[in-house]
Amino acid sequence: MDYRIVAEMSEPGGNALKEWHMVRADQDVAMCGRDIDPSAKVLPSDAWGTEAAQPFCHTCGALFLREAP
Ligand SMILES: [Zn+2]
Repeated sequence: MDYRIVAEMSEPGGNALKEWHMVRADQDVAMCGRDIDPSAKVLPSDAWGTEAAQPFCHTCGALFLREAP
């Protein structure tokens, strides 16, 4: 399974990052269930756990830990 990390902004179309979510490659909903903005910024899944992907959604992080190889 491939994943990507997608940004959630504090307000739609805004520049202030709220947090990052993990998204399965074939889905457009985050692992925590949040809808993802198709125009949002994306990071590769290997950015998980790095400075670049902070702050990270706690629910997505926990689910990803359980599911990732
Ligand atoms: Zn999430």
